[in-house]
Amino acid sequence: MADGPMDHPGYHPLLLRQLRKAGLAQPLSQATARLAALVGEAYHEQDRERRRNDRAMTLMAKEMTVLAEKIRHQAGLDPLTGTANRTLFRERLREAFAAAMPEQRVAVMFVDLDGFKLINDSIGHSFGDQLLCDVGRRLEGVLRDGDTVSRLGGDEFTLLLPLIYKPGEAAFIAARAIEALERPFVLDGNEVLISAAIGIALYPDDAEDGDGLLVAADTAMYRAKEMGRGHYTFFTADMNVRLHQRLLIKNRLLKAKGRGDLNLVYQPKICIRTNRIQGIEALLRWQDNRLGKVSPCDFIPVMEEMGLIADVGAWVLAEACRQVRIWREAGLESGRMAVNVSARQLRQPGLIDTVINIIRQTGVAADDLEFEITESMIIRDTESATHLLDEFRSMGIHIALDDFGTGFSSLSYLRKFPFDIIKIDKSFIDEIMSNPDDVAIISAIVTMGHALKRRIVAEGVETIDQYDLLKQLDVDDIQGFLFSRPMTPEDLAPLLKQGECYPRPSP
Ligand SMILES: [Mg+2]
Repeated sequence: MADGPMDHPGYHPLLLRQLRKAGLAQPLSQATARLAALVGEAYHEQDRERRRNDRAMTLMAKEMTVLAEKIRHQAGLDPLTGTANRTLFRERLREAFAAAMPEQRVAVMFVDLDGFKLINDSIGHSFGDQLLCDVGRRLEGVLRDGDTVSRLGGDEFTLLLPLIYKPGEAAFIAARAIEALERPFVLDGNEVLISAAIGIALYPDDAEDGDGLLVAADTAMYRAKEMGRGHYTFFTADMNVRLHQRLLIKNRLLKAKGRGDLNLVYQPKICIRTNRIQGIEALLRWQDNRLGKVSPCDFIPVMEEMGLIADVGAWVLAEACRQVRIWREAGLESGRMAVNVSARQLRQPGLIDTVINIIRQTGVAADDLEFEITESMIIRDTESATHLLDEFRSMGIHIALDDFGTGFSSLSYLRKFPFDIIKIDKSFIDEIMSNPDDVAIISAIVTMGHALKRRIVAEGVETIDQYDLLKQLDVDDIQGFLFSRPMTPEDLAPLLKQGECYPRPSP
């Protein structure tokens, strides 16, 4: 008798019939094994099918992303943020110029994001990308119909307002954009803060073509940045003069053969308690036969822009070291020699090797050298800055934080970065006799600096009253016209011989 349902409780009679039909019913244990094998095979086949499908889906998704990017690009959109790209921006700018009526203006704004790079470097590029998308959306949120946001690349955004009747309308939108970007962004569950500076230029007042208008807006943006976080400013005629002057300097620097017109002058730093010369700062000067004396504030940025600064910086260091040797051979003690190192210079590859070579060639000890570095440079590239500063310090070179108080002036930088010396900027010293706030700030810097075992230098001391007050505030060293102007090595020699320096009588 064949197996019946009763012999195999739990098996459905229908299944048993099917099994018998297929000749699999005898014995059932065997049939069950065959069935299991068949079911297993079916599962494997399903699994293979699923994987084939997955692969096909992944490929399709990739192709669709590429296609979407292509379509966006053709439509003039930035693939990351979906805002207009450079090409579309320029096209809309041309259209706006063509459509502008005599009583209308076209406004172009350059938006500079402060703090983006820090976020990108510290929490990662994918969050940086997310932030750029959010920035694009917020900017779009403050614009009117017909206005355009565009990302020109990196973290550079521009705004185009084709229809403006009064500059105030552009100012209103710039203020709203700044406000929108100052609200916290949420990335990966964390709140992050950035700020923005905006430069505004108007057509046809500031320039009559797209390139000119962009340059004008960019120039205004730099001025806005100088004013501090969260500012916007319009391009003005005096900025034009500056722009022109930059071009002039550039041309003259291109024409200047070698470094014949460059020279160094030296200004002593004096210990406020002993009046002894603590050290010397080497300052770069440029005397052009057409432009006359050009201020380093004007020509150093141009040199940086032209890529000349690595070369010039190396020359400055070598020349300053050579001078230390000359004085030493003449029996004069100059203390530590401080050299200003620019942001761009610090980003040059091979800087450490250059410094090592110069030290070796001139025979000056690393301990006799001090590098003055401004805050802006460490903020721009925190990671590599820390690495470089550590490297210099391990060689024995001292590091000074220059112009403290002019940039972000975050007290946390004092703790985070390995500075030996803090130089309080002249702008604070200028006001100490009239502004009690500045006295309070200097007092706080001194207290904090001393707690961290940093030496505090006051720059730009010009009057005896300032000197007395700084002494009371317990500043360590001072530098300024009250004691000595920057001088040629020959003029400085008698002071070095004396080893001390006293306030000059007021005129
Ligand atoms: Mg300096």
